[in-house]
Amino acid sequence: MESTDVLIVGGGPIGLEVHAALRGAGVETMQVEAGTLGWTMGWWAPGTKYFSSPERIGIAGVPLVTRDQEKATREEYLAYLRQVAGARGLEVELGWRVETIDREGDGFVVGMRRSVRGVGGPAPGARLAREGGEEDGAPHPDPLPGGEREGRRIRARRVVLAIGNMHRARALGVPGEGLAHVSHFLADPHGYYGRDVLIVGGKNSAVEAAIRLHRVGARVTMSYRGVEFDPERIKYWLTPEIQWLISKGKIGFIPESEVESIGERVVRLRVGGGVREVAADRVLLLIGYEQDATLFERAGIELEGEERRPRFDHTTMETSVPGVFVAGTATGGTQRRTKVFIETSHAHGARIVRAITGRGVGGAEESYGAMAES
Ligand SMILES: Cc1cc2nc3c(=O)[nH]c(=O)nc-3n(C[C@H](O)[C@H](O)[C@H](O)COP(=O)(O)OP(=O)(O)OC[C@H]3O[C@@H](n4cnc5c(N)ncnc54)[C@H](O)[C@@H]3O)c2cc1C
Repeated sequence: MESTDVLIVGGGPIGLEVHAALRGAGVETMQVEAGTLGWTMGWWAPGTKYFSSPERIGIAGVPLVTRDQEKATREEYLAYLRQVAGARGLEVELGWRVETIDREGDGFVVGMRRSVRGVGGPAPGARLAREGGEEDGAPHPDPLPGGEREGRRIRARRVVLAIGNMHRARALGVPGEGLAHVSHFLADPHGYYGRDVLIVGGKNSAVEAAIRLHRVGARVTMSYRGVEFDPERIKYWLTPEIQWLISKGKIGFIPESEVESIGERVVRLRVGGGVREVAADRVLLLIGYEQDATLFERAGIELEGEERRPRFDHTTMETSVPGVFVAGTATGGTQRRTKVFIETSHAHGARIVRAITGRGVGGAEESYGAMAES
């Protein structure tokens, strides 16, 4: 059986950053990822921009340089992640999804299977299988039945779970949610041109989608449970834009409304004790994402609180299972309010290095861990 000292699971920015820190400290490592490098950013709509400035989401001491000195787009960041892997000599084995973590001797045996996609994002083909009920973004709808997929086992003294927390879209649980014109993910805005689009949600992704779709010539209406948007939960430059577009009647806004059912052409909303029908031939339910905690549970890690966060020691990042560490947004569970993201996770690699080697990461520590944690 293959073996390593540390196996890092997840090839997002923080998995890569932890890998670079461990490598820099001379620790033997392997890293596996179910999809491709930066899978999570891979399913965002084309051109989506980060809210963080480049220096705050740069990792492993490699400068993130953007074309126009502005915030990075998802495309720039994906290219950057490949650049970091190359510059730091980080090999990530792609297309392996970890399914089991079992203690054996002084370490673990980690079981994985071949996977055609990463974890999270819209699932191509899922719609074909469902009959009005199944969500796109349902947990890991891998088209290959488990028994037919190639398996692999790696022995590791320690495991770092940098598996993120956007594993599936939050569902509304209303009739019609599974119809073909309903999605939990914004696709290329161009495809919404000339359409009546109802966007459900009132946080950043919903507001950003509304503005972008209005600009490509869609007729956009927003349905939001709240009375007004919370500026704390929206990119600060978008708040005045959406307010202006709504005040001019360019984007429809129905506050204090909840979806009752979705039909082929019309969505029924409950508003103030009555029902209002809104025409829509595209419906976007942008109400957030959830973490799939199955791997934590299989590893025996305790989950805490309403958000079902993995229990871990904040000074070492070691979970309630000694030898299993957690890093990045995986630490946050299903976040009700986003407190953990790339910016707040830079210290994780340095802490894991210290816990494993007993040494700091010297000059590198600052660049790996300068940002405040939540
Ligand atoms: C629209 C949007 C904008 C954002 N903007 C910002 C921003 O400006 N600043 C900021 O700091 N953050 C931002 N975030 C959040 C940030 O992108 C994520 O927090 C980031 O992807 C987290 O990095 P991560 O490495 O912790 O996890 P991820 O990037 O989610 O990586 C986890 C990886 O693990 C893989 N994986 C999961 N389970 C397994 C398994 N069992 N086996 C193998 N692989 C597995 C997944 O396929 C995935 O590639 C934004 C998020 C969104 C949705």
